[in-house]
This record gives sequence, structure tokens and C-alpha cells, in this order.
Amino acid sequence: FHFAAPANEPVYSYAPGSPEREALKKQLAAFKAQAFDIPMYIGDKEVRTGKTIDLRPPHEIKHKLGHFHEGDASHVKDAIAAALAARTKWADTPWEQRAAVFLKAAELLATKYRYQINAATMLGQSKNAFQAEIDSACELIDFLRFNVHYLADIYNQQPVSSPGVHNRLEYRPLEGFVVAITPFNFTAIAGNLPTSAAMCGNVVVWKPAYTQVLAAHVIMKVLQEAGLPAGVINLVYTDGPVLGDICFSHPDFAGIHFTGSTGVFQQMWKTIGTNISKYKTYPRIVGETGGKDFVLAHKSADVDTVAIALARGAFEYQGQKCSAASRAYLPSNIAAAVKAKLVAELKTMKMGTTEDFTNFINAVIDERSFDKIAKYIDNAKNDPDATIIAGGNYNKSEGYFVEPTVIEVKDPKYVTMCEEIFGPVLTIYVYEADKFEEIMDIVDTTSPYALTGSIIAHDRYAIDQATKRLVNSAGNFYINDKPTGAVVGQQPFGGARASGTNDKAGSALNLYRWLSARTIKETL
Ligand code: NAD
Repeated sequence: FHFAAPANEPVYSYAPGSPEREALKKQLAAFKAQAFDIPMYIGDKEVRTGKTIDLRPPHEIKHKLGHFHEGDASHVKDAIAAALAARTKWADTPWEQRAAVFLKAAELLATKYRYQINAATMLGQSKNAFQAEIDSACELIDFLRFNVHYLADIYNQQPVSSPGVHNRLEYRPLEGFVVAITPFNFTAIAGNLPTSAAMCGNVVVWKPAYTQVLAAHVIMKVLQEAGLPAGVINLVYTDGPVLGDICFSHPDFAGIHFTGSTGVFQQMWKTIGTNISKYKTYPRIVGETGGKDFVLAHKSADVDTVAIALARGAFEYQGQKCSAASRAYLPSNIAAAVKAKLVAELKTMKMGTTEDFTNFINAVIDERSFDKIAKYIDNAKNDPDATIIAGGNYNKSEGYFVEPTVIEVKDPKYVTMCEEIFGPVLTIYVYEADKFEEIMDIVDTTSPYALTGSIIAHDRYAIDQATKRLVNSAGNFYINDKPTGAVVGQQPFGGARASGTNDKAGSALNLYRWLSARTIKETL
């Protein structure tokens, strides 16, 4: 079974007056007029507990979109039981039949559900139309199609045989269930983590972030319509630690597919370590976690390239991409020009609701996040070693709005150069233009993370030097570009060090983690 490399899903621009924009606006209005009553999906049941949590757009917190039903430990147990009940039949299903379900889901997302998944992401997670389109439509569709392509290649990889001996590799799913825990910031990740494991024949218990439930609900509906059998993916909304306590102490726990913060992942790993003797099999632990992503400009860099890389790399989706530029190192010869261009660029970025398509900046995800970001900004305002050169204001009366903020610091190890803030805050440090070697050491040693980073330079020797010196500083390294916007099939994504296990989502490297190979030797 071959499945040739697909083309990336084309991106709709939603240009003013286009039929796509009108259709998306209609969908947004329809969702806003609706009162969602979202159940959990466990086995073949829709489960409504009556313990509901309201859904509100982060940019319009007085508007209620509806609610979802929260579960407890008993629902996690039910989800595990439903998954295990579905396991044998799903694992025995020829993989081409499994693949067809996910290809159909991709097709449904590309056609019938495109506006629904985008509207859910725009309202639920406060992404503008373009950011929603490249995430919840294109990236998710690409994950589904490219994973089928990579999996076909894996299944085709077979050992050599010899006269009198026939050798083969059987790629079995893991023996047990897989847990998928997904972060609020990408609908594509929410869709990818459970489906990539399921495509390999595994059964899954999936828990999305509470701020992502609307999009998760649409994904589940699409998977059901595509023919995913009941119990293969079970969607539950429970508190993280409640789910963790049950899943990570279960003898059939076979793997965790996680994306989220470093602290949560490390805590889960410790729990799994403590329980290691309880499991039938060593669980696969896959986690993509935090980042403190850098842009390093060389003295030969083009001013506009640096300024635009910072404006877009740091502030698209309010800086809530794990790959967002959040620390910049500018050489003294061009620093003033870059800052001036950057500040001018930020002035053109309108902030407001996602339903107004002229807004570039929307709200941050929730009050906890808003308060955390505001605290970093306030601390910088009150610190003589830091200067706010753009933004610095925030307001949560209507929604969680934080202005794109740029802080300039005198100490390259200032707190906002080191810690992940996960909001629209960029910190700049200006270095002496001739001290490139020294600044590369600082870039490499300032943060525990190693997710993404950019070198911006015209000088080819400087590019080569940075590529070599920063070999362990980023899992995704960019030359003369912003450090965000990885495309499935083109730039496999994932970080090292404290940023994750680097199992490159949407690639064969990731899919191998959900397979357990059996070697069969037959003497002829
Ligand atoms: P988070 O860690 O707060 O939550 C992620 C998920 O874990 C959510 O579903 C949450 O409910 C769950 N969770 C929280 N505590 C838990 C526990 N004790 N046990 C089990 N589950 C628990 O992260 P977030 O705020 O949703 O997302 C932002 C973070 O994700 C940032 O750190 C960002 O860098 C990271 N991220 C990384 C990548 C990557 O590819 N490296 C991609 C996207 C986001």
C-alpha cells in the first residue's frame, strides 16, 4: 500500500468581499447565536454529567457560547474501559481501512467543516481568521494526510530475507491504551495527538485543555462522521491531575502523547516513573513542551527582515505559540533602526475581537494567563534595568487584552529573557556588534529550552557559525526568517532540552513511537 506525499492544503486568504470571508462570518454568527451543550464522548455514548462549565470567547467574556459537561474520576475509568474494549478489533483492522477514516476526516475538514472548525477556534481560542485557517484547517488536514503517507512508508520497511529464510517486521500498536493531553493554543495539535496514535492502531483517552473544548467537539464530530469506530478515541473533560492519577496508575497504560508546559510534563513523567512496575509494558513518553525562542540578528542583517521577523514572530496569536520569538539579540550597528521599524509596525496592528477581521491582535486565552503576563509587564515597568519601548497596557474589562509589548533590557539574563511568558511580550537586548561569538554563548545558555530560534544575517560565514554553535539551542532553526510557522511535511516540528522529547509531530519519527515492532523469522 503506497500513499504518495500529499500536497499541503491550500490556505484561504479570507480577503475582503471573498465568498470564503462571507461564509466564515456566517458561521461565526451562527455559533454565537447557538447555546452549545457539549457532552463527553465515551465509547458509543455522549455523556452529560450536569456539572457544566461555561464557554466564553476570551475577547468577549460577557458572551456565553454555551457550556460543556465536566467529568470526574469515574468518567476517566469509563473512558479507559471503552478504549480497551475497542482495542482488539481496531488493532486487527487492516491499516488501509484505518487510514481511510483519517483521510475522510481530512476531506471533511477541507470541505464541509472548514468554516466550523475555524469559527470554533476563533471564538473559543481567540485566533484571527488567518491564524485559525493555518492551524485548525490547514495544519490539521496536513497532519492527517501526511501521517497516512509516513505510516505507509513505515509499514513498507522490511528486513532482508535470505535463501531458506523469510524475515518480516510486523508493526503492532502498543499493548494497552494511549493518553493524549492537548494544549489550548493549537487546534491542529488537539486533532493530531489522538489521531496519530489511533492511526497506528492504538486506542486513546483524549483530554483537551478546557479552553479548547469547542474545537475538540467539532473534531470529534468530524471523526465520527468519517467513520471512526466507537471507543477508539474517547474524549473526556476532567481536571488534569484527576485524569493523570487514574491513567498513570493503570496497568494497561501504554503511552502519553502530550503537548503543553514543561512543568506539567515533568510532573507526569515523575508519576509515571513512580508507577513503572505497575505497567505491563514500558510506556512511551512523548511530550512537546515550553519554549523561550530567540531571534539573533548579525551586524550584516537586513533591518526590515529583522523587524518583520520580530513583529510577526513575537505577536501573531498574541505570542501564544510555543515557537513565538520572545527574546531578541540586536547588534549595536542596526539596533536603533530595527527598534524604530518594529515600533512603527506594531502601531499598525489593531487589537479587538476575532469577528472583526481587521484586528490582528485578539485576546490572550484566560484570566490566569492575563494576570501572569500583566505581572511580568508591571515588574518591568518598575525596574530601572528594563525599559518598555512599545505597548505595556492591558485591560480585562471586556476580554483579556494585552497590548503587544516590547521590553529592552541591559542584562541579557534579565528574567523576561529567560522565562516562558506565553503572551505578547518580546524582550530585546542590544549587544556590541563585534561580539558575535560572545552573544552566541549567551543565546545558548540563557534558557533551559531549545524549541525554535532564528539567525538573521547576510554574511554566509556568520550563518554557518551560528548554525554550528547553536546546534543544541533549537529543534527548529530558521535562517533569515521568523522562528514560527512550521508547515507539516516541510519543517517537522519539535524541540530538545526542556522543550520536549523532540519526536517531531507529523513525521515518521513521531509515528514510530506508537508502534511496537515484532520480528518474525520463518525457516522455509
Ligand atoms: P498546560 O501545560 O497548562 O496544559 C496542557 C494540557 O495539560 C491541558 O490539557 C491541561 O489541562 C493538562 N494538564 C495540566 N495539568 C495537568 C496534570 N497535572 N496532569 C495531566 N494533565 C494536566 O499548557 P497550555 O497552557 O495548555 O499550553 C501552553 C504550553 O504548551 C506552553 O508551555 C507552550 O510552550 C506549550 N506548547 C508546546 C508546543 C510544542 O510543540 N513544543 C506546542 C504548543 C504548546
